[in-house]
Amino acid sequence: MHAAAISMNYDHPACRAVLRQVRQQAPFVYGLTNYVAAALSANVLLAAGAAPAIGAAPGWPAGFGGQAGAIWVNAAGLINCTAQDMLDAVRAANAAGVPWVLDPVAMGAGIGEYDAIIRDLARQGPAVIRGNASEVMALAGGAATARGVETTASIAQAVPMGQDLARNKQVIVAISGPEDHILGPDGRHLVVPGGHRLLTVVTGAGCALGGLVAAALAVTPEEPDRLVAVAAIHALYARAAEIAARSAGGPASFATGFVDVLAHLQDTDSSDGIR
Ligand code: ATP
Ligand code: MG
Ligand code: MG
Repeated sequence: MHAAAISMNYDHPACRAVLRQVRQQAPFVYGLTNYVAAALSANVLLAAGAAPAIGAAPGWPAGFGGQAGAIWVNAAGLINCTAQDMLDAVRAANAAGVPWVLDPVAMGAGIGEYDAIIRDLARQGPAVIRGNASEVMALAGGAATARGVETTASIAQAVPMGQDLARNKQVIVAISGPEDHILGPDGRHLVVPGGHRLLTVVTGAGCALGGLVAAALAVTPEEPDRLVAVAAIHALYARAAEIAARSAGGPASFATGFVDVLAHLQDTDSSDGIR
């Protein structure tokens, strides 16, 4: 049984609460991600108040994986680290009780060798799987629908499969797109509307979102609050994109403006944003 979807935007008090906690606690968030997305991811995390480190320098995956408040593993990081680095990081995280996010970038694009590595990672017990519609569908066992790293599937197709994935793997599944769907292992379903199309023409916007989701996990110790915290991060991202888009001249100035808006997003108002 699935609960009815609840819509949530940045006016929900949980959004400001999670941002406030990230700023107060400045959690160490460690990421294995690709060099295309690394700088934006680090800048987004710094703007939100977290303390990021990225990359697989010798010893880092096993070391930082267990020391961090949370980690995120972006499968496209395989362009610059090994599958073993990723396994070392998530096993160290698991051993230390550190929650982690898996972003199955480009899963379902028809590269079997690559997809198999992501399937193996998904078996290691992520707290959150975050991806676009094609990626989530592929991980849930559906047909390959991605074109490289871009989705060709719709959110409507992906949600039922994401719900199955969430239940079967007992994981939070966050699907990004024109609206974001955050699906709980218990059947809860939060929807985050809004955001801006410019997010889709800045490289690594989805990847950086995975890093921020890890920051939310670092400051939110347990379910059931984590589902709301993950949705809160998506709502924060959407609001920041809407504000940044107003003064953007195009994708490049949008990306820098987006980081500025995140840094200045106020975290004190507490009006209720459930619609
Ligand atoms: P990446 O290409 O960086 O890996 P992704 O494909 O994994 O990204 P997207 O689905 O593009 O991730 O989501 C990144 C962000 O863009 C999310 O915050 C999402 O809400 C937003 N987004 C995606 N599509 C749209 C859209 N059509 N309109 C508004 N916002 C969107
Ligand atoms: Mg995209
Ligand atoms: Mg992506």
